[in-house]
Amino acid sequence: MPHSPCEVLQQKAAPGHYDRDVPDCLFCAIATGDIPATIVLDGKRTLAFRDISPQAPTHVLVIPRDHYPDVAALAEAGGGLLDELVGQAHQVAVAEGIDGSGYRVVFNTGREGGQTVAHAHAHVLGGRSMTWPPG
Ligand code: AMP
Ligand code: ZN
Repeated sequence: MPHSPCEVLQQKAAPGHYDRDVPDCLFCAIATGDIPATIVLDGKRTLAFRDISPQAPTHVLVIPRDHYPDVAALAEAGGGLLDELVGQAHQVAVAEGIDGSGYRVVFNTGREGGQTVAHAHAHVLGGRSMTWPPG
């Protein structure tokens, strides 16, 4: 759906959640199906798909379908969405058969946190022993 310049500015300026996709956001485009991804689990409000550059045998990203810039905005929005997203991360681990052996859920947040895509997402990593501290 086309967005007027005002709508786009409002969406980019708003600190909280958006109830539609944001133009030029890679993960919004994956959520709408405009950009293909390998879907692992498809929820009403969340979506899990394989990371294009896997860092472990299982490396899946879990996103809210609506646009939130990072996990802090997602937490602030409330409504149980963050719970749902973490629940889906666990469901991914079950589906991948790594819930018993263990796995890592990571929300890179902001520049020094290593976040490169400004649409909140959890990395679900597993299938090998994870090291600590992370790089
Ligand atoms: P982060 O650096 O924490 O923001 O994570 C972004 C992740 O998105 C990285 O692990 C990338 O490999 C992954 N990524 C980038 N483009 C795509 C894509 N088109 N499909 C799936 N994963 C992607
Ligand atoms: Zn987005």
